[in-house]
Formats: sequence, C-alpha cells, structure tokens
Amino acid sequence: MKERWPVIDTHYHTGVCLINTFDAENELIPWMDKNGVDIQVIFQVNEGFVHRTPDWNPYIGNDYISKIQKKFPDRVIGLCTINPWHQAPKTYNWPKAKYGRRMNLPIKDEALDELERSILELGLWGIKLHPLEHDFEINNKHIIYPMMQKLADLQKESGRRLFVVVHCAGDSVNNTPTQLAQVAADFPEILFLMAHAGYMRSFGTAGDVAEGIDNLKLNLTLNVTPTTLKHAYEKEGAEKFVIGTDGPFDLATTKRMIVRDLVGDGDEEAVEMVMGGNMAKYLGIPKIRYEV
Ligand SMILES: [Zn+2]
Repeated sequence: MKERWPVIDTHYHTGVCLINTFDAENELIPWMDKNGVDIQVIFQVNEGFVHRTPDWNPYIGNDYISKIQKKFPDRVIGLCTINPWHQAPKTYNWPKAKYGRRMNLPIKDEALDELERSILELGLWGIKLHPLEHDFEINNKHIIYPMMQKLADLQKESGRRLFVVVHCAGDSVNNTPTQLAQVAADFPEILFLMAHAGYMRSFGTAGDVAEGIDNLKLNLTLNVTPTTLKHAYEKEGAEKFVIGTDGPFDLATTKRMIVRDLVGDGDEEAVEMVMGGNMAKYLGIPKIRYEV
C-alpha cells in the first residue's frame, strides 16, 4: 500500500446558464476522473449569479451548488456566491439632519443571512468573491468586512475550516493583490485563495504582498506564466501555493503543467502539495491509500 495527497482543484464554475451548459449532476464526476481530480471545489458561474436558487432556473444559485455537493460528498466541496451589497445601512447618511443616527427602517442584512444559511443549512465550505464582475472593492470595510467577520463566526460555530476564493487577477481597481492581502491580514483565522495570482495585472505584486501572510495562498489557476511567482516560490516554498482549472471553460490539463513549470523538475513532493496536499491539510482531508 502507498499513500498520496488527493488532487484538489480549487476553481470550477458550476451551473447551467447562457455561457455554461455543463450539467454537473451528470458530467462533473466523469470530467474529474478524466482529468485526474479527486476533489473538486465548485461555485457558480460569475455572470448572472444569484443567492438562492430561483424557480425559473433550478440549475443555478447556492441551493444548486449544495445539491451537487450533497450528491457527491466525498468528491465535491461547494462555495456560496452572495451579493455583498444586500446589507442594511447601519446609520443614516441622508438627509443631513439625520446623519449618524441609527438606521431604523425594517431592512434586513440579506447577504449575512444568506451566508449563514449557506454554511449552516446548505453545508457549504465558504464563499467565492468576484469583485470585478459583482462590483465591490475587496477591502471595503463597510461591505466585505462584515461578511468576513460573519464567516469567521460561522467557522467557529460549524467546527469546519472555511475558505474564501477571490478572483484576484488585478484586472480592476476592485481586486488587486494588495487589497486582498490587507483583508487576509485582518482576518487571520480564515484561509484566502488569491485566484489567478501572478497573472494579468497581478504581475509583479501578487508574490510580494502575500509574503508572510500564512492564511493567504497564491492560487495558480490560469497563470500560464508562473515564473512571475518564482521569487515567492523560492522564498516561501510549495506550501504557499494551490491550483485550480477554471473548469469547465479551460483545458484541465494545463493545471499540472503550470505547477510543474513553477516547481521545476524532480520535486514530486512539492508538486503533490500544490496539486492538493496543502488544501487537504487545511481542510483535514486525509491522504488516499492505494495499492501498487
Ligand atoms: Zn473563474
């Protein structure tokens, strides 16, 4: 008997909509098997995302993600997607005469309620944030920090280790690596994955700003030029990295090539850690035993 860490793909868009017609109930496991993925992290397609699964399309929304996770509990880890703008103002800012007074209109913190429902009732493992598509600054203390605080509380309550995936290619002023590093430093109890780290406009900053922040991992998803993070790899080692595919859109085979390109030849243990060992350790998932 031998042992190996599971391959955990941290990035996969799930849901049937205009730009993605991949039926996860039937297609996901064969896709994973074909591409050598043991455990798949899934979340919604970015475009047209919703909180709860609506009547008009039962193949989108957080309930759908949970449904897929429940169908394949050993193979799938689901994250919720939530519109962070759906929160109640805490105080009045207009009219001026009421400035600073406590908000007393009956408005709910729908985003926080949905986060709680997603973790405790739906059993999801955290949240996917897309600051570019969904239009918020990732380090906005009035919008994002209450959600991160809530997630930290839910982590304690659920007894599970939760995590946050952030689209962080630096491709807008909403989602630079520098902003995400600030959030991760402010919530050390939660794991953050900087998706597309070192790619596009996160070139040159992703590795530097993440340095020394242990709960911020560089997620190599789609970074086809991983030499941009070579410096970070030499300084912090394989422990700092995770990988994903951005499936089903991308060619899944690129993920191992990206990892090998970063790690170099010969260090199989480092490859195994980036391919899934680091995530498995964090989530408390054991090694896979197999016969040779
Ligand atoms: Zn993606």
